[in-house]
This record gives sequence, C-alpha cells and structure tokens, in this order.
Amino acid sequence: MKIIIPRIIISKLFEHSLLEDPNECCGLLLGNDEKVIEIRSLKNVHDKPMTRYEIDSKEIDKAQKYCDNNNMDILGVYHSHTHSQAYPSQTDIGKAREIKDFFDPYYILISLIEKTRPIIRGYKIDLEGVTEIIVEHDGEAYISTTMNS
Ligand SMILES: [Zn+2]
Repeated sequence: MKIIIPRIIISKLFEHSLLEDPNECCGLLLGNDEKVIEIRSLKNVHDKPMTRYEIDSKEIDKAQKYCDNNNMDILGVYHSHTHSQAYPSQTDIGKAREIKDFFDPYYILISLIEKTRPIIRGYKIDLEGVTEIIVEHDGEAYISTTMNS
C-alpha cells in the first residue's frame, strides 16, 4: 500500500508544520486513488494543540462537498508532531479507530523533532493495528526561491 505525494505538496506540509510550531498542525489530503492533488490546511481546534490535534467535523463535510464537485476524494488526514517522532500516538490510534466506521483515511505524520530535516511517514490504522505505508514523491522537485536569488 502506498500514497503518492508530489514534492510540491510535501513542501507545503512542511511549511504548514513549521508555521504552526510549537503547536501541531492538521489538515486533509485530497486527490484520486492513491495520488494527492491538493491539501486543505485546517485549524487545530484542540484545547491542547501542542500535543493533540482535532479537526472540526464541519470542515470535513465542507471538504467532502468540495471533493464531490471536483472529482476528488478525501484521501488522508495529516498532522504534525512537534516534539515526537512521526509515529501515531496511542491517542492518534484511538481516534482513528473511533472514526473508522464512516471515514477511513490514510494518516500522514510530519515530525519536527529535527526542524531542518522534517520527517514524513504514512499509515493505515484499523482494529488489527497500525500499518506503515510507502510515501512516494513525484513531480517537480521543490526549489526554494532563495536558491535562485
Ligand atoms: Zn499525533
């Protein structure tokens, strides 16, 4: 099992993570089949955003409508860990199992333990456990604008 995330989108995930740091960022990955086409960065509405994340369910409904109108699906949920590795916490696993009956996304985690080298990993989470999936990059390499000046 794998998910394809174009490099330009990976750079956006890192940007969003760094922007919210030290809080966890969160959002949705939209696309077709296993390929991510765009991200929807959302507000982390949890009252302890440094160590937990929560997406407003109204935002998921809105994203679903947007996808229906644009021939896409919600492929995944992403969030960052600002103080731990890119592995799902017990809380993350519990939450993923709770919503699995009506929503079964890929989970993408970004770790900022090393700020200059963020790590990204993907998972499927079900009652049997946590399965790591391959995150494939494709498309144009992201080139920082400062490199060109
Ligand atoms: Zn987490």
